[in-house]
Amino acid sequence: TPTSLQPGKKSRELETLKQFSEDLVFNPAGRPLTEDELIPLLQDCDGYVAGLDFITEKVIASCPKLKVISRYGVGYDRVDVAAATRHGVVVTNTPGVNSEAVGELAFALILAVARKIPYLNQDTRNGGWMRSTGFECLGKKICILGLGSIGKVVARCARGFGMEVCAYDPYIDEGYCLEHNIAAVSLEEGIAQADVISLHLPLMDSTRHLINKETLSAMKDGVVLINTSRGGIIDESAAYEALKSGKMGGLGLDAFEEEPPKDSLLFEFDNVVATPHTGAHTKEATQNMAKAAIKNLIDVLNN
Ligand code: NAD
Repeated sequence: TPTSLQPGKKSRELETLKQFSEDLVFNPAGRPLTEDELIPLLQDCDGYVAGLDFITEKVIASCPKLKVISRYGVGYDRVDVAAATRHGVVVTNTPGVNSEAVGELAFALILAVARKIPYLNQDTRNGGWMRSTGFECLGKKICILGLGSIGKVVARCARGFGMEVCAYDPYIDEGYCLEHNIAAVSLEEGIAQADVISLHLPLMDSTRHLINKETLSAMKDGVVLINTSRGGIIDESAAYEALKSGKMGGLGLDAFEEEPPKDSLLFEFDNVVATPHTGAHTKEATQNMAKAAIKNLIDVLNN
């Protein structure tokens, strides 16, 4: 359940929802729910504001009253949209509202890796005084894979830091690139030329493990890779090998193949900076997402 929609919380979004329906059911656990937890909870619900729960066909088929799954967020990969469509359940999302939050976190991860901020923070707190040589963004080349709403925020931040920006997107907006001084490149060119590669594309069958042993070997030595999109896009065992060999100079992750990551070998390395899929969690984005998710839910149920 989105924070601003938790019971007892005073928020405009919750008020809107209460005015629409007096019969609200809340996620009692404060974490994504399993299939078996979701089914009894959603039994009598017409609409569902969904966060990071996996919504399978079993859940959809077992909740016959359900008319709308209103995703609070962008990705649809946790919802079986095909099954929802088969069962006549509309699925909506909230594109664009958290782009600034995620894009800024991606850039924060670049800086955190570049200057080893988490590592130095820990060392300084522990009484150490280790100065470690990092790198500057000015003049470096960044390749943005997926120039959608989040990719564009990262491009803007990167230009602000004096980086050369290129992007690969199968549906690239050439006009936008021209206007914002972004070089539109092929995937191969982008991967081969960049000092920093930032992932902002959706997870689909065709993009699962797009970053693998082969694509990693085609990258520049010392490349920094940032993933705030979805975990499955990077083959983490290939990334581990690239870090171990020194091929990869740093890795910033807000998304993992398994979330939360259990005993990840990636945490062996000081040049790996991790955050807990928290890209969208700013005050502004949380509010915008809740507002948009509730509007979508009400619009569908009113029609
Ligand atoms: P978007 O739809 O605006 O942009 C995605 C872009 O990727 C589109 O321009 C699309 O053409 C492009 N694309 C599609 N297939 C591609 C491919 N094979 N190679 C390169 N580009 C490709 O979406 P967005 O809002 O910018 O979100 C981007 C990603 O960020 C999504 O995967 C989303 O799940 C993820 N996300 C993460 C968080 C977080 O908390 N970390 C929050 C929101 C979104």
